[in-house]
Amino acid sequence: MPQQTQKRTESDGPFLFHDLILVQYDIYMDQLRQVVEHFSNDPLARILTRCLRSNEPLKGIDRSAVRERVPPHVYETRNDFKTCGCCGRIYWKGTHWVASTKQVMRIFGIQE
Ligand SMILES: [Zn+2]
Repeated sequence: MPQQTQKRTESDGPFLFHDLILVQYDIYMDQLRQVVEHFSNDPLARILTRCLRSNEPLKGIDRSAVRERVPPHVYETRNDFKTCGCCGRIYWKGTHWVASTKQVMRIFGIQE
């Protein structure tokens, strides 16, 4: 009896085998470099654009809507806030954002 094979088509869904790579490194910085270079991504283009908890894309939120949800100093010194539509977490460009951006720049040898 001949063995039947079924070819995967686009209508089967978004998962495609050519989107997979075998990560060859143990250290996260090397893993990050390999993945970003494999997919030809700009490492800074979408930095901190997703929720750290839910991985959902962040969207802008009016400053007045976060007044009671962020520390007073943050509310007084920041104008741009983002939120996660899934978990409601609030994000702003604070010291964590600066440190993360600098770390990515160091990993990829990007000059300030
Ligand atoms: Zn979230």
